[in-house]
Amino acid sequence: MKLYREEGDHREALCHQDGRVTATFEYRDVPFSDGRAIARDILVGRCDTCGDVILVPAQSTPAVANARSAQQCSFEVNVPSVFVEMLDAAAARITPLATPDFRKRLFFFYVNRYAHGQETSAGLATLAKRSAELEAGGPAKRLSMKLSAFANERIETVLQRSSLTRTELIKCVALKVGDDIVAPERPRHIGQLTVLADILYA
Ligand SMILES: [Zn+2]
Repeated sequence: MKLYREEGDHREALCHQDGRVTATFEYRDVPFSDGRAIARDILVGRCDTCGDVILVPAQSTPAVANARSAQQCSFEVNVPSVFVEMLDAAAARITPLATPDFRKRLFFFYVNRYAHGQETSAGLATLAKRSAELEAGGPAKRLSMKLSAFANERIETVLQRSSLTRTELIKCVALKVGDDIVAPERPRHIGQLTVLADILYA
């Protein structure tokens, strides 16, 4: 990977309208194509002919991703408190450092597993049936999470595939967390989750 050091560096590039051109690097604010966010002071390459931004070097992509993830979506559901307690009990087993924020991490850990097929849709359907039949006691609790646009999209993928609502998905994941982490003597995924927690609370 070549690190472009400074403004004024040149590179050959392909421009969508001018073909092969020379691009010059400079720092500028770059609005996303959807117009919903701006990445500020990003080193980018502009076409010397038309001036359009045609190159975003690898070193600038984390900054761009950061601006993108600032587009937050909120995920809010009301569930019987037992489901929230299940997530918290698991969090406490994983790390003594867990804060309520860890609910979201745990939820997303499983959303990822369902999205990537590491857990089956059939399993999710079974959990949905169980959660519907469960006589869940306790007062309703509001679970509110701020999610990045990327996390929200991944959740939407799982919802579409499973035909579950957001509330149902949270309940299913809480039951799954109960089966995997709270109930067994040796929790599943404990190595991975402990590393995740250590990094998160570093
Ligand atoms: Zn151009």
